[in-house]
Amino acid sequence: MTVSANPTFDPAAIAARYAEVREQIDRAARDADRDPHSVSLVAVSKLFPAEAIAPVLAAGQRVFGENYVQEAKAKWPALREANADVELHLIGPLQSNKAKEAVALFDVIETLDRESLAKELAREIQKQGRSPKLLVQVNTGEEPQKGGVAPAQVNAFISLCRQSYSLAIEGLMCIPPAEQPPSPHFALLNTIAKRNGLKLLSMGMSADFEQAIMLGATHVRVGTAIFGHRG
Ligand SMILES: *Cc1c(COP(=O)(O)O)cnc(C)c1O
Repeated sequence: MTVSANPTFDPAAIAARYAEVREQIDRAARDADRDPHSVSLVAVSKLFPAEAIAPVLAAGQRVFGENYVQEAKAKWPALREANADVELHLIGPLQSNKAKEAVALFDVIETLDRESLAKELAREIQKQGRSPKLLVQVNTGEEPQKGGVAPAQVNAFISLCRQSYSLAIEGLMCIPPAEQPPSPHFALLNTIAKRNGLKLLSMGMSADFEQAIMLGATHVRVGTAIFGHRG
């Protein structure tokens, strides 16, 4: 019997970590008086190969997040042949010139954050007859290096997407600044979503998904806690 030299790719270890994350999500939901089914786990498989994803698929996980269009395009068509019901989320920044590939491949695009991208997405959705769900990314920490719409601009941006481009915006996503407590950012995202009648809230990662669930997350994006550290 051969044993993988890299413990991160030990299928049993990945399956065990996955089961633990699932349990933590269910517990956090119950602690918040929420139905565990109202929180969806997006397993973030960026930079992990098919062999690391296989045990998570085998355990029944169907919702996955990827950051890079090219990487997802190389990995997922084959995995999807065996698992047609996979739901793929784009959670990384999207260049307008990749909108075509993103609309063709993803079921949810979480990083809509500017008019030029709204325009390209609208055009491709029309052309391809395929409508991924769209979430607007909000730069809750107003960090210059990060994508996302500034909190003060979100209402206007959502109206623009709806009115000028006929895009159905279904929710919001945020990545709080690494060096700050995340809860105020999660609370802010929730407030902005309510104000705009949006149901989906993608917030919380490996280090803080339980707090995000407390504050209303409908989607938590968890990578490291399942797959281990990335390269
Ligand atoms: C990588 C990434 C995640 C997952 O982060 P972990 O800390 O590994 O759980 C979630 N969201 C986004 C946008 C990411 O880029």
